[in-house]
Amino acid sequence: MTQSDIQTIVTQSGKELKVHTQLFINNEFVPGNGPLIEDINPSTEEVICKVHSATEEDVNTAVEAAHTAYKKVWSKVAPAERGVLLNKLADLMERDQEELAMLEAIDNGKAVSVARDEDIAGCIGCYRYFAGWADKIHGKVIDTAPEQHIYTRHEALGVVGAIIPWNYPLMMGAWKFAPALAAGNAVVMKTSELTPLSAYKFATLIKEAGFPPGVVNIITGYGHITGSALAAHPRVSKMAFTGSTGTGRKVMEASSTSNLKKLQLELGGKSAQLVFADADLKHAAQQAAAGIYNNHGQNCNAGSRIFVHESVAKEFIDLFTEQAKAVKVGCPFKEDTFQGPQVSKAQFDKIMEYIKIGQDEGATLHFGGKRVGDKGYFIQPTVFTNCNNNMRLMREEIFGPVVAIGTFSGGWEEAVELANDSDYGLAAGVYTSDHSTAIKASNALLAGSVWVNCYDLFNNSVPFGGYKQSGFGKELGKYALLEYLQVKSVITLIDW
Ligand code: NAD
Repeated sequence: MTQSDIQTIVTQSGKELKVHTQLFINNEFVPGNGPLIEDINPSTEEVICKVHSATEEDVNTAVEAAHTAYKKVWSKVAPAERGVLLNKLADLMERDQEELAMLEAIDNGKAVSVARDEDIAGCIGCYRYFAGWADKIHGKVIDTAPEQHIYTRHEALGVVGAIIPWNYPLMMGAWKFAPALAAGNAVVMKTSELTPLSAYKFATLIKEAGFPPGVVNIITGYGHITGSALAAHPRVSKMAFTGSTGTGRKVMEASSTSNLKKLQLELGGKSAQLVFADADLKHAAQQAAAGIYNNHGQNCNAGSRIFVHESVAKEFIDLFTEQAKAVKVGCPFKEDTFQGPQVSKAQFDKIMEYIKIGQDEGATLHFGGKRVGDKGYFIQPTVFTNCNNNMRLMREEIFGPVVAIGTFSGGWEEAVELANDSDYGLAAGVYTSDHSTAIKASNALLAGSVWVNCYDLFNNSVPFGGYKQSGFGKELGKYALLEYLQVKSVITLIDW
């Protein structure tokens, strides 16, 4: 069964929005051949609308569109012009910031104020940052011998495939589109089947900004159908994937059994925050609480494990719990809401199950742990204490507003050892007033980002990406640009 493209939806604030529900290929919305997917509002548990999904054949159409656009048009566009288009796109996102934020709020459940001021503002900054790089990509001349002329070229890869999760629907897209397009690639992106709406609004801005047809293609669908077809496609030169570690393995397998495409995997985490006895405890509690409760705990880099020095544990836990109690949980369309619902029933059930597991394992449920209200997937910010590294609560990614707090009694080496005892290595936090402890602990932590006396501080020029099973490759900054380029050496004998 198919349906027409544009649907009218109504937000909880009573605002009518028109949304696209078909696949965006070659700058047009086209029906998908897969089953229609019901898109659920996590605040009300009601169906917002149904969206089209892409089959393997649709994936093929999108990849062919990208390949043709890359070969015939995009690879011939001057680098500076790519920058102009990216800047125009950022301007259009700024114009439509409120609407984009409302779409994130209704689809994902995040607070509209957070979506507007952090997610969409971050995306706009990201497109502008990489717009600036578009005409600053170049290789170098390498002097070897007088009769030789040798230089390198930094070249685009061709068609990039991107697969993203639901926790930052526009931002996870921006972190891939912006460097990929600045570097001169064409892109096919699959959104999460749970949160496709903002990406389709974004697609209209791609067309309005003037990107040639086929340079950006956006599809949605289930991972095992649409995602796996994209990951295995032989014309896709690189796959940029953000999602769970388990799915990352599947994307890697698909690459290894098809064309050995270049990979970038941004995966899960179980990031530790270390609170030393000499920390400013009030500040540490405030930062550490934001570190776990931001985005309802649905952050890959969520600081979901805290190790606090036993001499200050009680004071810190009291201060931290005050922060947890102060989190405003409620309708995403209220301007003062900080935490909306979890994204789906499956995520809600998984988090509630972990809250039970934590209690069964012997951790102390210090605060929270309950559903909020009886409609929507709202969960209280939750604090577990008396946790240790043998507990699943400390080892597994919960992806919800649940923190597990344990203690240490020795110096920085012990705290770092506890933090490093994890399969993951995405991020870490260090709270101390001693510069030397900060540097020594930061250097020894096996994590791609270490925040000192802060958490979740992002900047478009600062690379982000994991160690260990949190994946490989970097997003943001110049490092991200290099992920979307390949280097050619041209060796010329000028005198023989
Ligand atoms: P997920 O792995 O279930 O899904 C991610 C995406 O992969 C979705 O679009 C999904 O449809 C697709 N997918 C599923 N199966 C697939 C398959 N076999 N082949 C190809 N694609 C497939 O993850 P999620 O639940 O959407 O997101 C949460 C996870 O994402 C968490 O583990 C979180 O830590 C991680 N994450 C990591 C980062 C980072 O930068 N490291 C950022 C955000 C989220």
